[in-house]
Amino acid sequence: MQPIHHIFSQLFQPRKVVITTHQKPDPDAMGSSLGLYHFLRSFGHEVTVISPTNWAAFLDWMPGCEGVINYEMNREKSEGLVQGAEWIFCLDFNTLVRTKSLAPVIERSSATKVLIDHHQQPAIESFQFGISDTSKSSTCEMVYDFIVESGHGDQLSQSIAECLYAGIIGDTGSFRFPAASASVHRMVARLKETGLNHTQIHENIYDNFLENRLRFIGHVLTNRMEISYEYNTALIYIPKSDLLRYEIRTGDTEGLVNYPLSIQGIKMAAIVIDRDEERKWSFRSKGNVDVNTFARRFFEGGGHFNASGGRSSASLEETVRTFKKVLKENASEFNLDNK
Ligand code: 5GP
Ligand code: MN
Repeated sequence: MQPIHHIFSQLFQPRKVVITTHQKPDPDAMGSSLGLYHFLRSFGHEVTVISPTNWAAFLDWMPGCEGVINYEMNREKSEGLVQGAEWIFCLDFNTLVRTKSLAPVIERSSATKVLIDHHQQPAIESFQFGISDTSKSSTCEMVYDFIVESGHGDQLSQSIAECLYAGIIGDTGSFRFPAASASVHRMVARLKETGLNHTQIHENIYDNFLENRLRFIGHVLTNRMEISYEYNTALIYIPKSDLLRYEIRTGDTEGLVNYPLSIQGIKMAAIVIDRDEERKWSFRSKGNVDVNTFARRFFEGGGHFNASGGRSSASLEETVRTFKKVLKENASEFNLDNK
């Protein structure tokens, strides 16, 4: 994978471009994709954003979101665009399996693939150009760097700023995680100068749910959360019946995994949700608990040191049993025992 600055000189040559990101895009995935979309369009490129799956309704306000194609709903059109693309930008993921059934389509394409991502252990052999930097707060911060370092900081518009700001607050937990560096705050100052209304963006993402979601959270925290003080860990498990009863939609469970970390002493929080095709895990931790390795080793996943995800094809009961077993057996290695 060659360094990303090698493509800077080609920005002025209009191309057919596809931008894609991971399945069920979150604010960083969608924000970085649309931020880059607006930037590349300003040079006359023909750009389409393709999401491997649907996304949460709380992202629909993003400028350009109305034009994003959901691969699962528009396979033929997406495949034509990927086949015809000269550049494919891959944002906020670093291994093609994160794009689910879109992965073989991308793999087959002869387009130049460009990676911009901040997750650990990138599969760099899949990309010709790119940047992978785990010290970055978000892929949105990296798209900002791309714009500025390419010498086109003057192209930063309010639309770009709105998209990028969404991902930055998403991935830094509204500036509380360690990755919210001085440069992140300097970048936000620059984004503000475009006219960005940060209060509005925060409301669009976090104050835009229906009543049922809050009732669901109440139910889950009361009935589906188990705390192990012995291993400083909290587990939340959600059966399909809960999702149906509360009419839970994509995005409604986002952030739920963070709640138990507010309990004194809890260093790791895990949530598993019984989705149709798989049991989907999310892990969050504080300090020296490496949930990237935890997810990678036990649940076919990965991500960041303090935030990761994984999956299981076993039943909900079975994967919960596995979690408790591996927790007990590996607590000390993951700094989760009380020693
Ligand atoms: P979330 O729990 O919010 O879905 O994901 C937390 C972090 O882990 C995100 O950065 C996400 O991209 C990553 N992640 C989530 N699920 C998986 C997975 O199955 N595999 C890998 N490699 N990363 C994941
Ligand atoms: Mn991200």
